[in-house]
Amino acid sequence: MDYLAGLNPQQRAAVENTQGPVMIVAGAGSGKTRVITYRVAHLIQKGVDPFNILVLTFTNKASKDMRERISKVVGGEAKNIWMGTFHSVFAKILRVEAEKIGYPSNFTIYDTDDSKSLIRTILKEMQLDDKLYAANIVFNRISSAKNNLVSATEYLENDQIQAEDIGNKRPLLGLIYETYAKRCYKAGAMDFDDLLFKTNVLLKNHPDVLNKYQQKFRYLMVDEYQDTNFSQYTIVKKLAAAYQNICVVGDDAQSIYAFRGANIQNILNFERDYPDLKVYKLEQNYRSTQNIVEVANSIIANNKNQLEKNVFSDNEKGDRIKVSRAFTDNEEGKLVAEAIVQDRLNKGLAHKDFAILYRTNAQSRAMEEALRKLNVPYKIYGGLSFYQRKEVKDLIAYFRLTFNPADEEAIKRVINYPRRGLGDTTVEKISAAADQHDTTMWQVICHPQQYVQGRIANQLNDFAVMIQSFAAESKKLDAYDTALYIAQHSGILKELHIDDSVEGRSRYENIQELLNGIKEFAEREDIEDRSLAIFMQDIALLTNDDRQNDKDADTVSLMTIHSAKGLEFKNVFVVGLEENLFPSQMSLTSRTDLEEERRLFYVAITRAEKKLTLTYATSRYRWGTLTSCEPSRFINEINPSYLELEVVKPARSSFGENSFDNERKSWTQQRESVGKPKITSPASSAAIIRPKTTSILPKAHIPTAGFTPNAANEFQNGMDVEHEKFGFGKIVNLEGMLPDVKATVFFQGLGNKQLLLKFAKLRIV
Ligand code: ATP
Ligand code: MG
Repeated sequence: MDYLAGLNPQQRAAVENTQGPVMIVAGAGSGKTRVITYRVAHLIQKGVDPFNILVLTFTNKASKDMRERISKVVGGEAKNIWMGTFHSVFAKILRVEAEKIGYPSNFTIYDTDDSKSLIRTILKEMQLDDKLYAANIVFNRISSAKNNLVSATEYLENDQIQAEDIGNKRPLLGLIYETYAKRCYKAGAMDFDDLLFKTNVLLKNHPDVLNKYQQKFRYLMVDEYQDTNFSQYTIVKKLAAAYQNICVVGDDAQSIYAFRGANIQNILNFERDYPDLKVYKLEQNYRSTQNIVEVANSIIANNKNQLEKNVFSDNEKGDRIKVSRAFTDNEEGKLVAEAIVQDRLNKGLAHKDFAILYRTNAQSRAMEEALRKLNVPYKIYGGLSFYQRKEVKDLIAYFRLTFNPADEEAIKRVINYPRRGLGDTTVEKISAAADQHDTTMWQVICHPQQYVQGRIANQLNDFAVMIQSFAAESKKLDAYDTALYIAQHSGILKELHIDDSVEGRSRYENIQELLNGIKEFAEREDIEDRSLAIFMQDIALLTNDDRQNDKDADTVSLMTIHSAKGLEFKNVFVVGLEENLFPSQMSLTSRTDLEEERRLFYVAITRAEKKLTLTYATSRYRWGTLTSCEPSRFINEINPSYLELEVVKPARSSFGENSFDNERKSWTQQRESVGKPKITSPASSAAIIRPKTTSILPKAHIPTAGFTPNAANEFQNGMDVEHEKFGFGKIVNLEGMLPDVKATVFFQGLGNKQLLLKFAKLRIV
């Protein structure tokens, strides 16, 4: 197969130049990922051992796709390439090397919930105000320190950091970080950031280990390089130091993870670090129509801090970009769903050719409702994943304990679930005893008589014996039988089985589903180690954006723009283009933040191959009330000659015909000054009035775990907020219509305060 024929001269040069440092910084859709894919295939064709190649991608899904493509060229050898996300690759290496840095090889990976729960425990023990030291704030601070390779000791010794913390009235952050790190260590646990932080420690303190991996990974490639943080940058730099066969590709215009520590500086550093660097330019976009490429170029030109790039498309000119206005979020959903049905019929497209992209997870609700009404199959990527459900996490906590009984967060989670008379007080006692005797909670549980008396000691003993029996069984049974044994003998299956409420049944089914997944895993033939421990590592490292079991599913994709990075679809809808939503409210005060939002918009529109539709609503239910919205400034940044405007006329409108007509007039005037794109106005029969004015978005639609880019521009019940004068509080009620929405906020020590949101200047924490 002449795979090189599928490359243009610049791409081909980058593929064939396999020795020495190479960088490609180029616009969206110009074939960067394709270059990496073909480069790996080319290396193997030339005789390089796949075991010597390391490829780092942004999602597990991306590496799966890449491996499939490579195997078309090189066959079964593709399975031996080291390929995956930074987290998954280095977790795998840490499993082998953990003991060198004092960790057990069966270390647990703490997810964000575990980390925050541990932080809360520490705050409680230190008797700190958990409003001032909100778990989120502490967590982000620790995470950012780790991503910048600042250890707890360095943190405490750094005067500048200390001064900053004292300035923001949280002088004890360093101490909390130190305790947190110690507790993770004692529990044999690493959090997500540790997987990279500890890899750095390993490579720094163990030259022999560094040398081993330098020899192993003779060829390194990194996709989406613009979104690497300092910790990742350092690992790559260290590994590549011996052979310098490193190729990175990225696009500064698509850097959208600054809030997680990604640093565009890494691209600039790269040029400095490798003076022999060869830089290739890719200018042709193969993905999208000319119109889409030109619109994308014109949008990003509004950003000041941008490397200069020239991107063109030789594809057809294509349709204009459609801009559709709806009156409410529900109507917006309806117009998108109807457009999908029509386009599919008219153009013979499949459901999977469509994607709906939004700024925040909460926006999926209106889209889902509309798609369901028209029987359009869809799949949501991201949001609360299966593995974050309580019952699933409970059973997994038992699995974790089976392999690493020191895992404190797992102990706390299930020591009294199902109930066995070991309540919070007992847990606190065990934890205090462990601290006092400088040992682990597990040791206390194994020798309870030394620390507690009577009935509780017996219960603890039973618990210890049970976990030990799980460990013993796991040595005899395969992954599925071990899992089933644990589900039965922990009492979880019985507990859920006797609960015959609707929720109870669904929880039981979820456990069944988890067991089915393990069964499938245990029967896989493409991997050697099919143990339950490996299954757990895989699921611990699933990123929010990884798509599971969707190989042949013909469904419309719904996801946040952050999750859409690197993907492409024939037909893309970017919805919710309204001020305060996209760009988000939080980004409006600084140029840097606004430019990141604009890059996000650039990422969104460059996902489209043939057709792009932008939609917005003039009103939207937010904070439980109908809020009126302005179209996003991003729409105005597009030259109107590229646009085709559509206004969906509602059957019944609280805004009255006048405002509808006026708005249409102003659009028309705007257009007439720049040529005459056509206007369409399909009638819509949906009524926009929703009776409830005090309802809030259902909780399930608020992103709750993992990476949640920006749901924070909406106030909702239960949210933690900060007030200039009253400090930290929680919203307990919202009422009234905008602009007069009144919030009742509970402030510690002050009780409930009623605040008018338009004056209160609340900050979401
Ligand atoms: P992004 O910045 O969005 O990640 P990218 O630069 O990685 O984009 P790719 O995804 O590699 O771009 O390529 C975009 C599309 O163009 C893909 O469908 C790819 O197969 C196609 N493509 C790239 N190069 C060529 C080429 N030389 N000939 C034909 N198609 C190409
Ligand atoms: Mg790409």
